[in-house]
Amino acid sequence: MIDPFGRHISYLRVSVTDRCDFRCVYCMAEDMTFLPKAEVLSLEELERLCTAFVRRGVKKLRLTGGEPLVRKNVMSLIRGLGRHLDSGALEELTLTTNGSQLAKHARDLAAAGVKRLNVSIDTLDREKFRELTRWGDLDQVMRGLDAAQDAGLKIKINAVALRGVNDGEFGDLIRWTHGRDMDLTLIEVMPMGEIGDATRLDQYLPLSLARAEIAKQFTLSETDYRTGGPARYFTVEETGGRLGFITPLTHNFCESCNRVRLTCTGTLYMCLGQVDAADLRAPLRASESDEVLDRAITEAIARKPKGHDFIIDRRHTGPAVPRHMSVTGG
Ligand code: SAM
Ligand code: SF4
Repeated sequence: MIDPFGRHISYLRVSVTDRCDFRCVYCMAEDMTFLPKAEVLSLEELERLCTAFVRRGVKKLRLTGGEPLVRKNVMSLIRGLGRHLDSGALEELTLTTNGSQLAKHARDLAAAGVKRLNVSIDTLDREKFRELTRWGDLDQVMRGLDAAQDAGLKIKINAVALRGVNDGEFGDLIRWTHGRDMDLTLIEVMPMGEIGDATRLDQYLPLSLARAEIAKQFTLSETDYRTGGPARYFTVEETGGRLGFITPLTHNFCESCNRVRLTCTGTLYMCLGQVDAADLRAPLRASESDEVLDRAITEAIARKPKGHDFIIDRRHTGPAVPRHMSVTGG
């Protein structure tokens, strides 16, 4: 699949549910309304959709959400998709998770062919963690991490940089992740979805500032390491570990975008930062053969926009796109 700007689309991110057992303050409002179950694709339908994308050249699949591991029977989907790894059609199957259910699932994930996980942890302070996630338990997440590493899974920690919340902790996060042989990526907060009282302008911390702060304590050497994503990586000389920065607001990375995003209702977003989307649920359900679906995918890819328009400043305090990150999974 090649889009109008010559970019090869080889990466599909799938939000398998919009539900979550946390309510991170930058991601969701406390009283979120979730989709009625009837609108959500069955696991079999999700597998069929993903398989259509793999047949069209997708090499990397990431399951996300909401929290992917809270979806009932999600392991059956993961095992099903793992078969494409065995055949060689798919190169990587991976997940982004908050880690709360990892202790239960880590072994099965490894057995299904998952090799790497992104786990989101923004702070190492239990109290702060509970406040940020509104009801998450850091110890439970830590048990999940232990289980995942015991099962041989390679972990990258994602932390959203939040002004006045974790901006004093970057050094600790670096030492902790690298001490456990995990990479760390810092993410800029993106203006997606209404989140209640908290305003993103208050939370927003440009990573250029975070980097300057980190550079006071550590020596950062640029690397050309890429994971096929938008992060720019540095080696931290003191720890030997890797530190990534995802900066959608201060740095535009759209030129090399290779991805599209599927929601659990079968809506395909061609860009995280735009509203345009294509419905694939109707074509999926229209026929048992994938012909109609394939046509819809082709048409959607032809509409992939050049880039996003994220902006956070005093004049733009509302969300740039109305949907929450939990719809498309980041
Ligand atoms: N629940 C899983 C988790 O937290 O890892 C997967 C879904 S979550 C939406 C995916 C990632 O998006 C997480 O790392 C989360 O911190 C990040 N995220 C959520 N809302 C965000 C926002 N408004 N700006 C930037 N990152 C955000
Ligand atoms: Fe849930 Fe992940 Fe959003 Fe936090 S960031 S509320 S864990 S979906």
